[in-house]
Amino acid sequence: MRLILLGPPGSGKGTQANLLQRKFRVPKISTGDILRAAVGDQTELGEKAKVFMDQGQLVPDEIVVGLIKERIDEADCVDGFILDGFPRTIVQAEKLDETLSALGQELGTVVDLEVDRQELLVRLVGRSTCKNCGTMYHRTARPPENPGACNECGGELYQRPDDNEATIVKRLAVYEKETAPLKEFYRKQKKLKSLNGSGSVEEIFSRVCEMVS
Ligand code: AMP
Repeated sequence: MRLILLGPPGSGKGTQANLLQRKFRVPKISTGDILRAAVGDQTELGEKAKVFMDQGQLVPDEIVVGLIKERIDEADCVDGFILDGFPRTIVQAEKLDETLSALGQELGTVVDLEVDRQELLVRLVGRSTCKNCGTMYHRTARPPENPGACNECGGELYQRPDDNEATIVKRLAVYEKETAPLKEFYRKQKKLKSLNGSGSVEEIFSRVCEMVS
């Protein structure tokens, strides 16, 4: 399985990627998670990336492409991977094709999660994530059983600094301009499958599974 989850911020890519990696036992690769870890560790890369992330802008292609190339080449990716949040530009998609063909691998399905803008805003403003296992919650739609603690592992929940209204609006605009054109890119490659990304996490997961198996 070599899968891409495409969709705007808040469309559920991370949640679905977490479920898919458990079911299909292939690693989820989230460039957002890798970058946030680098920011947390205050590495040189993290310091550079933070400036863009705080403003809701994309981190430059050469940085994220370099991260992905290294990650895909690791041993646990030989049987596949789930990409969450990459590629986000045409250049990134082209570089991914090049990287995979150099490794003798081919991309499978590109799942495009469609959710309307109003719902995205509501989801993102109320979202929190477990620091430990990455499980996601929502203040009203999916609250944790114990406030501030993850149902799965008891880890501390946090709200991403870029999940504030001003930055969310910027991220959605960047998605439309830079990332949405990837739909046409993958449609031409006959890899794109769009699905309705509204509904319960479980409903969406069964739609995704139907498309990838
Ligand atoms: P995400 O967790 O996927 O929403 O990503 C959070 C932020 O990390 C984005 O708003 C970007 O600033 C940065 N980022 C993540 N993935 C990429 C990517 N593929 N290309 C450029 N920037 C990225």
